Amino acid sequence: MSKKQFKAESKRLLDLMINSIYTNKEIFLREIISNASDAIDKLCYLSLTDSSVGMSRGDYKIDIIVDKDARTITVRDNGIGMTMEEAENNLGVIAKSGSYQFKGQMDSEKAEGEDLSIIGQFGVGFYSAFMVSDQVTVRSRKFGEEQGVEWKSTGADGYTVTPIEKDEVGTEVIMHIKADTEEEIYGSYLEVWKLKALVKKYSDYVRWPIKMDIPHQERYETGEKNDDGSPKFEYKMVTENETLNSMIPIWQRSKSEVTDDDCIQWYKEKNRDRKDPCALVRINAEGAVSYKAMLFVPGEENENAFSGDNKGGITLYSNGVMIMEKCDKLVHDYFDFVKGVVDSPDLSLNISREILQHDRQLRIIGQNLEKRIKGELEKLLRDDKPKYQEFFKNFGTDLKVGVCDEYGRYKDFLRDLLIFYTSEDRQITLKEYVEAMPESQKVIYYASSTSVKSAMSLPQCEQVRSRGFELIYLTSPLDEMVLDALREQDGKTFCNVVTDDLGFETEEEKKAAEERDIENKELLDFVKESIGGSVSKVRLSRKLSTQACCLTSEGGLTLEMERYFRHGPSEEMRKLRATRVLELNPEHHAFEVLKDAYQNDREKAKKLSQILSVLAELTAGMDVEDPAAFAEQVAELF
Ligand code: ADP
Repeated sequence: MSKKQFKAESKRLLDLMINSIYTNKEIFLREIISNASDAIDKLCYLSLTDSSVGMSRGDYKIDIIVDKDARTITVRDNGIGMTMEEAENNLGVIAKSGSYQFKGQMDSEKAEGEDLSIIGQFGVGFYSAFMVSDQVTVRSRKFGEEQGVEWKSTGADGYTVTPIEKDEVGTEVIMHIKADTEEEIYGSYLEVWKLKALVKKYSDYVRWPIKMDIPHQERYETGEKNDDGSPKFEYKMVTENETLNSMIPIWQRSKSEVTDDDCIQWYKEKNRDRKDPCALVRINAEGAVSYKAMLFVPGEENENAFSGDNKGGITLYSNGVMIMEKCDKLVHDYFDFVKGVVDSPDLSLNISREILQHDRQLRIIGQNLEKRIKGELEKLLRDDKPKYQEFFKNFGTDLKVGVCDEYGRYKDFLRDLLIFYTSEDRQITLKEYVEAMPESQKVIYYASSTSVKSAMSLPQCEQVRSRGFELIYLTSPLDEMVLDALREQDGKTFCNVVTDDLGFETEEEKKAAEERDIENKELLDFVKESIGGSVSKVRLSRKLSTQACCLTSEGGLTLEMERYFRHGPSEEMRKLRATRVLELNPEHHAFEVLKDAYQNDREKAKKLSQILSVLAELTAGMDVEDPAAFAEQVAELF
């Protein structure tokens, strides 16, 4: 029997497999089990039309047999099997599904090192056995054939095929596990617990039972008695042939079989989440792309997030076989918090993160999932506001970032999911705000600060509130950018009560104010000089009613944005400063006192100017640079 050579491209792949430093070696078991499951599918399908198969559904199984001494793992199925020709054709060349993409990649690749990343991009089926084995033997007999075949290979140097006698139809893949090296303890794959865990992780929903002998201790009565007359017990090791996989995934079952509560229970166990999810989406889609999905919006930010395996993300399955854990490209980042599963027979086992982004079917699935998630959140907002507020507290930032992302590309999809605090002590969407606007109100007013309380006490809000107009309070640094990205709501633009013209003045009032500015120009210049250039302008306010002064800004960069950028990632960002404007209320008693001092006591006027400037900073929620000096200045006035 002569040794046959692999075809050139297969040989290269095999080389890479054997010498791979690819870390995800454990997927070999998933690949071999998937092949076994496919083989059973084929025989089972054949039995529908061919009564000579003589098997019933309950007879099919996949066995895993470990022999630690011989260092072998055998995966045995009673599926359709292979003829000698098929063994040669199927195992001697690159896996069909992977081969096309692989070849494409090979052709365009430049550096040798890139080969390794290619392996990481898709499962390569049967060949992956060589990541952990130094010899693979396949013994198979095809249904309807008398003779069996043995295919054997120690790797890149080729393979042999020999006719053999085999009693049963089906295939066994015997993997001889590599010797341990410093980098990799291959022997760990021979541990029963490890194999059990791998089956649970990757193959839990394979339709056919995956069985293995599991040793465990059993207590038995020895027949002797203890001193007190009680029976004596001892322990012995027994093995039990257990089914390792749960087979039918919960998301594959219909709503009549599995209630929403069952799904929630499953979610909590799986994610070790104590809280109920706040939304559940179950989809059974048939059509251009068929898939089943079960998605959850968590009830809280996950405490176990640090462990890494518990953050959001959707796990992809193809017919119950896990093909990607925490696939983060199926939905956009703004729905990153969604957890769950998508199972589609239309997905290839060999999908990679790179392919994922360009895969049309996945894009369709992704779009549908997003629509459904959004719909579910809108329903929650409508039917259970407190619960939605809780959700928004946890994940609102994701949605806000989504609105600002990619120059506002997703803003219209997300806008109705955003809620804002308002002066009416409620949290509402912008749509609701506009609906509640009185006829006379032309714009959407907002004030921005570090908290609702400090936004509420901004002096510029008084005029708006006194006219009975509702005000939106922005509390997160992101909020202003969100409004910037949204631009408008139902044709109404946004008005920052601190920086923008509130639009309340009549033409006459405007004119009178301008005249007053000219009249007081000298005094205002004096104030500016007195406070040492910390503001670029001092002017008389047209917005204040009860407060003496306030700080505002000119240009695009507001005080709030400045505050946000102060913690920014780059030095450049941290240096950004808003153009500050100090506004004095000409109707306030303080202004009268200042004016008087300016005429009679310049030194006092200077001090009053400095105090007013600090007061304005304080009401804008800023820190006083030198509190002791400020306290002294105030005390001196007595
Ligand atoms: P893929 O499964 O993606 O086609 P593989 O390299 O995993 O690629 O397998 C190649 C082929 O070998 C399979 O398509 C199948 O025809 C055959 N094969 C592998 N394992 C088995 C098995 N246990 N029983 C029958 N045929 C098998």
